[in-house]
Amino acid sequence: MRSGSTLLVTFDGLRRDRVSDEFMPNLRRFMDEGSDFVNSRSIFPSETRVAVTSTMTGSPPGAHGVVANQFVHSVRPSGLFRTSEWEDLELAAQAGQLLDRATMGERMAVAGKTMAVISTATKGASRMMNSSAHSLGQPVFSVHGLPVSSTEVHDLVIARLGEIPAAAAPNSERITYAATVMMDVIYPTYAPDFCIFWMNEPDTSSHKFGVLGRETEAAMRMADDNFGQILEWWCSGNGPENIVVMSDHGQIKGHAQLATLDIVPVEFGRASIGSFSGIYLEDASDKNKAKVVDWLVRQDFCGLVFANGIDGAPIAGALPWSSVRNDHARGADVGFTLIATDSSTHYGPDIDSCLFAAWITPGGGMHGGLNRGELSTVLAAQGPAYRKAFRSETPCWLPDIIPTVLTTMGLETDGTEGRPLVEALVGDDPRFGVAPAVETRTLSASLNGHEQHLRQWVIEGRTIVDCGWSAGTGAWNK
Ligand SMILES: [Zn+2]
Repeated sequence: MRSGSTLLVTFDGLRRDRVSDEFMPNLRRFMDEGSDFVNSRSIFPSETRVAVTSTMTGSPPGAHGVVANQFVHSVRPSGLFRTSEWEDLELAAQAGQLLDRATMGERMAVAGKTMAVISTATKGASRMMNSSAHSLGQPVFSVHGLPVSSTEVHDLVIARLGEIPAAAAPNSERITYAATVMMDVIYPTYAPDFCIFWMNEPDTSSHKFGVLGRETEAAMRMADDNFGQILEWWCSGNGPENIVVMSDHGQIKGHAQLATLDIVPVEFGRASIGSFSGIYLEDASDKNKAKVVDWLVRQDFCGLVFANGIDGAPIAGALPWSSVRNDHARGADVGFTLIATDSSTHYGPDIDSCLFAAWITPGGGMHGGLNRGELSTVLAAQGPAYRKAFRSETPCWLPDIIPTVLTTMGLETDGTEGRPLVEALVGDDPRFGVAPAVETRTLSASLNGHEQHLRQWVIEGRTIVDCGWSAGTGAWNK
């Protein structure tokens, strides 16, 4: 009987439209020969730790509560809660306020199965791949060592393979080291039922050298070479039954930087400013929210705006948080994106651009918003559970991945909000091989000449965001 054992390989920050024979021949072939989900999407905000958490809980941010890469959280009464930092995540975990949904690691533990993590991502992202791994006794290897790695795994890896190489861009040595850890140490030692192997490229190089940078292309080739090694190892009968490949979001060009991060009047309340920004208001009445939204849509940095009134009443000029599946008690009162190009009809790595807040220099890659270049991801699968040479047009997103893997393992998906991608599955289940109906709709809001639009897909009553854009006085004219 099949066990459904699965390896999930991630290329961080890889735009789907950058996968080509030239730069990524192994991945291109894998997508063509397996099940390829051509309309796969990230979540909002399209930031790594939010994406990791949405993947691993099979739920959007509005359900799991990691609402942004950084936000205001009661465990950090002053300053911002930073999901990149181990200490902040530990504080929230100890207070029972890190996650509102079960993780894949917890599901595997309940089923008597093992989950392993091998990660070159930040400490915070690596933690969120299996947030309670240490207490569950499940193996974790991080290039950041302890306390992110489990002690046993860390000691075993260092004894076998020597010291962990230094970080670089492209991060070639670390990624190749991590691939060796997976094939030579983790699988032979633990034979995990579910394993995630996370490459932090092309994200790192793309931030630094741009989506179309030569160094970014070198990073794509390097990550693809490592993927090729993994496929060769797998085709020789090693590792899992199935391999699923994803990217967590894409990147677009950071055109120009805000002159300052102090773009929101302090009297409004506390703010976290980035590609996605949240304002936690001193006065969270509907009247004040309306006033803040009215001010925001007059600012030339403002893209899309999100706010809810009490009891779900609309706020003029804003879309509801539920439209992006990010309505959570820990979420901001008012949120907005920095202005970006309109990707609703024309888009591409040479077109998609945005304002940005920090971290990069102009021309570098950025993500976090609702541009199609940020939301369109890679998702493909091969193995006995998946159809061969199947091109699925049915929209899907990160929260669908774990429900799909659970289904191939014969396990329940309750508590997830994703959908098992049954259209791509092979087997006796009458649901398999049948694609669901899809509706498309566009939500809009406008105020003071500022317009915004959000295109959604509706599948079995649940929504996935295709992309969002602003127009009118909110149109890109940089
Ligand atoms: Zn990422």
